[in-house]
Amino acid sequence: MCGIVGYIGQNQAMPVLIKGLKKLEYRGYDSSGIAVFSDHLQVVKTKGRLADLEEKIKTDGSINGCVGIGHTRWATHGAPDDVNAHPHTSSNGRISVVHNGIIENYLPLRTELEKKGYTFVSETDTEVVAQLFDAYYNGDMVDTMIRVIQKIRGSYALGVLCQEKPDEIIAVRKDSPLLVGLGNHENFIASDIPALLEYTKDYYLLNDNEIVVLKKDCVTILDMEKQEISKEIYHVTWDISTAEKGGYDYFMMKEIMEQPTAIRATLSPRIVNGEIQLDSIQYTTEDIKNINRIHIVACGSAWHAGLVGKYVIEDYARIPVEVDLASEFRYRKPILHPNDICIIISQSGETADTLAALREAKRQGIRILSIVNVVGSSIARESDDVLYTWAGPEIAVATTKGYSAQIALMYLIALKFGQARGYISTEEIKQLVAELENIPSQIETLLKQEGEWKALAKAHAQIPNAFVIGRGIDYAVALEGALKLKEISYIHCEAYAAGELKHGTISLVEDGTLVLAIATQDALYEKLVSNVKEVKARGAYVIAIAKEGNTEIAEVADNVIYIPQITDSFTASLDVIPLQIFSYYVAVERGCDVDMPRNLAKSVTVE
Ligand code: GLU
Repeated sequence: MCGIVGYIGQNQAMPVLIKGLKKLEYRGYDSSGIAVFSDHLQVVKTKGRLADLEEKIKTDGSINGCVGIGHTRWATHGAPDDVNAHPHTSSNGRISVVHNGIIENYLPLRTELEKKGYTFVSETDTEVVAQLFDAYYNGDMVDTMIRVIQKIRGSYALGVLCQEKPDEIIAVRKDSPLLVGLGNHENFIASDIPALLEYTKDYYLLNDNEIVVLKKDCVTILDMEKQEISKEIYHVTWDISTAEKGGYDYFMMKEIMEQPTAIRATLSPRIVNGEIQLDSIQYTTEDIKNINRIHIVACGSAWHAGLVGKYVIEDYARIPVEVDLASEFRYRKPILHPNDICIIISQSGETADTLAALREAKRQGIRILSIVNVVGSSIARESDDVLYTWAGPEIAVATTKGYSAQIALMYLIALKFGQARGYISTEEIKQLVAELENIPSQIETLLKQEGEWKALAKAHAQIPNAFVIGRGIDYAVALEGALKLKEISYIHCEAYAAGELKHGTISLVEDGTLVLAIATQDALYEKLVSNVKEVKARGAYVIAIAKEGNTEIAEVADNVIYIPQITDSFTASLDVIPLQIFSYYVAVERGCDVDMPRNLAKSVTVE
């Protein structure tokens, strides 16, 4: 969470910082600030959105200087207010710091510094870093950074300015993302690529505790022994327009519409002449046959994608699959067998809980296959094998195309493993792969019905709560649909396995309760129709999702959304589309900020 930018060059820093922060606002948006160096450090910060910061800069007068750092915050320590906003400055004004992450031992450090006479003005953990820098400063920022790193515990990406070093920015990261952008007579730091794209496509990825000294004409990277490290230059392959709204009101709608492209890009390089090829992953048929159990570990929507994975992998490959929330897995002493594998799913590849779970599984000697969208991210780099979802940058906090690309990879793994283990014939593979390849155009057809669902959403926008029910894979999708509605419209919505409803939760159904019923599993269709009848009998208003041709449901539901015919295993890709669009328009109708829902942020890099 949180976005950091830093600029040093020939141009005015302030506009570069603001533009960069705008591109990172999806990462945190409760307060923001900048520090720019001219003959002294000028700091402007405020609670609220970036627009509030821009307003404040205008009111405060001009901010000059060609060196600066900026931050858009997702508060962990201290309320989102002006004082707690970053940058944080040492008491004497010499050091200014932006930070992403959590300093876990900030309290004892704060007490220690207070004893030395430092006074603290904020409630943040970050202020400790600014004061510590000042306390340790010996004229050399690298020495000082090393001492600070040795003292602090936790996760951090830091950008630091020192009043006495007007021609440099010093930065470091550990367990929080930070990139170094390489320009012509100008250099940058940023939490994510979109902040750099207007200026450069060349960047360095940093490993934990590599210290960056950023000057106008050079970038030096040092290890903790002050040895210079030579780094590979990465090159961004996508264009700036991919990270812009392109005429849509919100990124979320743009990303919903991009799903056919994202799925095509994820599937097509891996389907060669009807055969599934999982990049250069070295799983021999023997390896696949020997897999004892698969542990899928993820958070949020990625966890929901993992649940879809469980159904399809168990079905096609007959391997037992456990799906764990990363925050639970890492602390629950998981029992892992040497022949187990772990599939880690994370859009950003930086999710702190997921990364920690990966490390736990690795520590136990388990082979890790990760499914990640951001190339070169921490999870990708620490895994034994990586399958990238080629969904392009996802900016809206609520995932859509990221999730869809993840489930596309789940299908590929299930089919590949199923074939290797002898459960699917070559003939069946051909037919299933053809179905997979057809999904993007089926989604295109579905997306044309957007207007109808918008009307449904408008009609139901003021509901106090809702249910999404389904069985089998439809239940996995129900969880994702309910999360979408909760995240962006703030309507409490519960996903329930349709057969489980009668074991308690049905008591909440009363006259007018909205139930979204997913009935797209042929094998379970009649059971689901019965569940719809049960809620209808108690007064529910039911919007059903069913496959074309399954028209009986229209007799029991109030509205039916039809998806094209598709094998039961792949319905998730189609079912999720109306659920996303319904949630989107409910949120718009309620006046919510769809891309930046309250209390949330993309890329959750804290525990
Ligand atoms: N822990 C810091 C704070 O609460 C940084 C949070 C962030 O990453 O935005 O201010």
